[in-house]
Amino acid sequence: MISPEPGELQELVRELHRQAAPWQPAGLGSRLSWGPQPEPGSATVSCRALRGIVEHSPGDFTVTVWAGTPLVELQAELAHHGQWLTLDWPWGSGGAGSGSVGGLVARGLAGGLRQRYLGVRDQLIGIELVRADGVRARAGGKVVKNVAGYDLMRLFTGSWGALGLITSVTLRTLPLPPQRRGLGLSGPLEALSQLASWLLGSSLSPERIDWWRPGGGGSGAGAGAGAGTGGDAGLLISLASINAATLEEQIACISARGAALGIGALPLEPAELEAQVAQGLGPGPEASDWLLRLAVRPSQAPALVAEPALAQLPLCLGAGSGLGVSWASAAELPAYRVEALRRSCQQWGGYLTVLRQPSSSQLPAWLDAPARPMIEAIKRQFDPLQQLARGRLPGVQPPPLS
Ligand SMILES: Cc1cc2nc3c(=O)[nH]c(=O)nc-3n(C[C@H](O)[C@H](O)[C@H](O)COP(=O)(O)OP(=O)(O)OC[C@H]3O[C@@H](n4cnc5c(N)ncnc54)[C@H](O)[C@@H]3O)c2cc1C
Repeated sequence: MISPEPGELQELVRELHRQAAPWQPAGLGSRLSWGPQPEPGSATVSCRALRGIVEHSPGDFTVTVWAGTPLVELQAELAHHGQWLTLDWPWGSGGAGSGSVGGLVARGLAGGLRQRYLGVRDQLIGIELVRADGVRARAGGKVVKNVAGYDLMRLFTGSWGALGLITSVTLRTLPLPPQRRGLGLSGPLEALSQLASWLLGSSLSPERIDWWRPGGGGSGAGAGAGAGTGGDAGLLISLASINAATLEEQIACISARGAALGIGALPLEPAELEAQVAQGLGPGPEASDWLLRLAVRPSQAPALVAEPALAQLPLCLGAGSGLGVSWASAAELPAYRVEALRRSCQQWGGYLTVLRQPSSSQLPAWLDAPARPMIEAIKRQFDPLQQLARGRLPGVQPPPLS
């Protein structure tokens, strides 16, 4: 992996372009192994030397940060000012393994907190990058209302390093919520599903409403009453407010509604909520053979929870987004079950991405997206020599290995 100093980066990219050499951008390299691998012989150019906060304007609620800055460093700095970037830690990574801010944008994935705060692309208000030909480009700005220029931010969010190298990003921040509480809900799937629909349409605006089946033998939020105990999925809810009394009212309201449906509710203090998330996910997402990204229409989320191919496997799935993750060992999950699951996700208006799989299996990370012609046309515009992340263009199935 090459880690150029900031002053060397542009010339390095120009040189790679002159040689038409294949290469892939990287952040801290924490999850480069996921998904399809770039062609053998590709160089990897890491942004780890592009590190630090360029400008934080607490009054404007914006921060500009070099792409190689670890997410954990950015959150710690914002916390000094009572602010945060409204994103979950990447699953299973906790703080330190959370990767760089550029990597977070390039992958474009967010967790359950998107229920209230939306996704990575919605936090981005500016981006700077180096194109494949070494030319610097910029879009957006440093103020929340800036809409000048093409919307490169959304294009680069989830681009998996295939369109250019992100050098810095400007993100919106929010005040840290002074009060946060959680609620673990367990009961019959049909009743939980009714409660989730009601919550999604209510004015309570929880931070997360996740379908939840803990991994690693996790026992949910307490025996009998927690979210997802043993093999049953439950709901994990997180609520935030400036006012503790408001939260108590919301918890009482949801619990009462749940009780009427035969649902058990267990209120969680902030530390218990955090522990629930960490314990439920455990080391699984980072350590297991299979790591699957799941997506279905939100209305089909309960069907996915009940899907036999997922039975007994850990699951974390946003009730409002229909986006989630599951993981398993090779022994627990044969490849044919993953294929069945993929078919179900497609039938329910979504998709399945294989982020990691056992060496014994060779499933495509993703199937061709209907937007393939558009994706390829954009790729040709940004990277006419097809240098970047060859073989891992998101949404485009790589050609079979020869
Ligand atoms: C709740 C949550 C769950 C997540 N789950 C997953 C998940 O399941 N799978 C997953 O892959 N990610 C997931 N992420 C995203 C994860 O945060 C990133 O993969 C991680 O931050 C990568 O950090 P890194 O610096 O180590 O990047 P790397 O591992 O170095 O690179 C990751 C990808 O980003 C590209 N990239 C990195 N930096 C740049 C840059 N500066 N310019 C252009 N491209 C770049 C690389 O080419 C590669 O495709 C999740 C994030 C959240 C918030």
